[in-house]
Amino acid sequence: MTDVARFQAMLEVALQEARTGRSEGGVPIGAALFDGDGKLLASGRNRRVQQDDPSVHGETDAFRRAGRQRSYKDKIMVTTLAPCWYCSGLIRQFGIRTLVVGESRNFAGGVEWLKEVGVKVIDLDSQECSDLLTGFIAEKPEIWNEDIGEE
Ligand SMILES: [Zn+2]
Repeated sequence: MTDVARFQAMLEVALQEARTGRSEGGVPIGAALFDGDGKLLASGRNRRVQQDDPSVHGETDAFRRAGRQRSYKDKIMVTTLAPCWYCSGLIRQFGIRTLVVGESRNFAGGVEWLKEVGVKVIDLDSQECSDLLTGFIAEKPEIWNEDIGEE
């Protein structure tokens, strides 16, 4: 399997979480954390609406569900949307070195900053990830603005 095919298969796990979030009426952003061998540690999704908790982003949800890890150097964070500053900070704080992004069209987040600090970023530019979020933004702009901290 090529790297791209491997990353796309990983993205599919995050995308499934995003679809579930959408069906729950939540912000459709999903994430998953894998180890260096490609084994899934945990997946998660944005649950701001579902749990009335602004700290539950896709990345933080997957990260917390994965439990304690001795090291994050070999871990791969996969997310349907470029990570916000909060989640970019998490990636930097714990030393995750590989980030797979579904898309960065709707939101560029901290991707450039992560690249500058040496994180390997793979942007798969997925039409499906983009469409899922674009549809949500059009339908519920107030929740989207709340999620990215815009008034
Ligand atoms: Zn975030």
